Amino acid sequence: MTTRVVRAACPHDCPDTCAMLVTVTDGRATEVRGDPDHPNTAGVLCTKVSRYIERTYHAGRLLYPMKRVGRKGEGKFERISWDEALTTIADRLKSIASQDPRAILPYSYAGTMGMVQGESMAMRFFNRLGASRLDRTICSTAGGTGYKYSIGAKIGTDTEQYQHARLILIWGGNPIGSNLHFWMKAQEAKRQGAILVAIDPYRSLTAEKCQHHIALLPGTDAALALGMMHILIRDQLLDHNYIARYTLGFDQLKDRAAQWTPERTAETCGIPVEQIEMLARLYGETAMCGEPAAIRLSYGVQRVRGGGMAARNIACLPALVGAWRHPAGGVLLSSGESYPKQIDQLERPDLCPADPARPPRTINMSTIGDDLLRDSSAEFGPKLEAVIVYNSNPVAVAPDSAKVERGFAREDLFTVVLEHFQTDTVDYADIVLPATTQLEHTDIHASYGHQYIIANSPAIAPLGEARPNTEIFRQLAARMGFSDACFSDADDELAAQAFDAKHPHARHFDWDRVKAEGWMKLDMPAAPFAQGGFPTPSGKCEFYSEQMLRAGLDPLPAYTPPYESVASAPELAKDYPLAMISPPQRNFLNTTFVNVQSLRATEGEPHLDIHPDDAAARGISDGDLVRAFNQRGELHARARVSDAPRKGLVVGLSIWWKKLAPDGRNANELTSQRLTDMGRAPTFYDVLVQVEKIQPS
Ligand code: SF4
Repeated sequence: MTTRVVRAACPHDCPDTCAMLVTVTDGRATEVRGDPDHPNTAGVLCTKVSRYIERTYHAGRLLYPMKRVGRKGEGKFERISWDEALTTIADRLKSIASQDPRAILPYSYAGTMGMVQGESMAMRFFNRLGASRLDRTICSTAGGTGYKYSIGAKIGTDTEQYQHARLILIWGGNPIGSNLHFWMKAQEAKRQGAILVAIDPYRSLTAEKCQHHIALLPGTDAALALGMMHILIRDQLLDHNYIARYTLGFDQLKDRAAQWTPERTAETCGIPVEQIEMLARLYGETAMCGEPAAIRLSYGVQRVRGGGMAARNIACLPALVGAWRHPAGGVLLSSGESYPKQIDQLERPDLCPADPARPPRTINMSTIGDDLLRDSSAEFGPKLEAVIVYNSNPVAVAPDSAKVERGFAREDLFTVVLEHFQTDTVDYADIVLPATTQLEHTDIHASYGHQYIIANSPAIAPLGEARPNTEIFRQLAARMGFSDACFSDADDELAAQAFDAKHPHARHFDWDRVKAEGWMKLDMPAAPFAQGGFPTPSGKCEFYSEQMLRAGLDPLPAYTPPYESVASAPELAKDYPLAMISPPQRNFLNTTFVNVQSLRATEGEPHLDIHPDDAAARGISDGDLVRAFNQRGELHARARVSDAPRKGLVVGLSIWWKKLAPDGRNANELTSQRLTDMGRAPTFYDVLVQVEKIQPS
């Protein structure tokens, strides 16, 4: 019996990007665990990924290429050879490309966060083909855009510093479920006397464990930040020296914030004036005492119409009180731009054919429902004729799901899906290609929650005939006749190209060394903006942004009401009076893990959390089957009556595979394709619904 331990990285869409150790005995993986030496992972994996062995050897793994033999959506396939699969795909793509390659669309996101199995060889292929480009907006672009208008880059407080903070505002997230290792630092801070405040319309597991919970109305976070600015300025809880040296536009901000009295803020956010006063004073006074006041900003705030502005406003707060002076102060939305990634080298946009008659066309992944149903037009360009899906499950995760399904059900659409399992999207594929999991391939990872580069080495041989994404696109490139040398790069060569070793943040980067040692930390200052140096055009934290003005946006912090709320859409609210949000279930990560039986069993069935007053008004009791519906669709779920959601809000924890839900639907039946103020992102938490009891038949 031979046993060895292989260094790996968790590939999932989670800011923690854990360093893992995989035990392999006689060629079979037997255990995954967190690397105890990795400072962020600290030997701990979340419940989901602790089940990675169960997921890897799941009886439902796709092991062979298949072609469709039933109707689209029916999920009937028969096994074919790789040769037949690749020939079929290449022939069809060649035929479409001979008319207009922009009729071909890649559709991918963060099914793996790996830089090798993500977009490297895949994007080389699509760039060389001249396919439509995909605007990858589905998760984070609204908040990222807004955050960067204020502070210049997706950089922020080092997660390892939060344990030293005296106050932490956990804004728009439930880290127990989706940022566990940050939560471990926050708990350590709490043990040492820090105050934790959760700002979230829903009393999540995290909110339950914080000393304060501010349950504002969904989509009003931008207003709360403005109200805090008002009080900080009114009460002179300001770091004047920091403001004078390292910020731009304070006088204009003062005028704007003056409009956001605590009373107006309270009415907009649906919370008491006293809570806003308490929050602002706690924040300002902590900083005025020279103590670290930190914000962990999560992407929950930005899934609404004004989501970009919400992140922008919140990102202005640390500069007002000088919180950046302390390594454990400031704010973190994402650490993603701490890394000097060599995206152009990996994806090679220069391979794109320059054809003035066919300028590049970009499709927004968040409006795939509408775009799959569009005909050719001068404005849109060619009708989409082929979609190649990898690292994503759009039939379950894209908004306005009924339209997405109608689009994928088009008989004339050629759909290829690279996957581990027969997801809702696979059911619509013409050709299915089995992809390797993280234990079966090489990769390299950046993080958006910490500052380490992490290597992933293959622990086991690919199961069945599964192949890495890179290998699939290499072979497709060969079938298409693409002879460029870059299509011969091996996965190790791709990993070696991932980061710029000349950049000061990664000057010690060497792939072979990282692979051997498992991980390396970037070379970043402990307090990145203690002395300004913001990567904005002015080099300052921009309360006033010329860039925003040029983009047609309000150059100052502002508030944009949701598309759908009782206050902003009173007519719609007559029919659909309840706000709905659909944050992640603790045991699911987007749709990954829903088919892992032990995790799904823990979650049971789809639930809808509803406040007792809203339930009573509808004759709904705990455990009743209910129907949530609006102008776009409906969803059946088991009612859970509690005061965890604020009154007027229902919460459908997500994202269920449709076919694993009793009614064959999930929360995205109810979400819309309307986009955010910045970043062209979806508005998943900007939804009104009505709820009624389903009478037992
Ligand atoms: S999902 Fe997140 S917390 Fe869980 S193992 Fe992966 S990176 Fe770590």
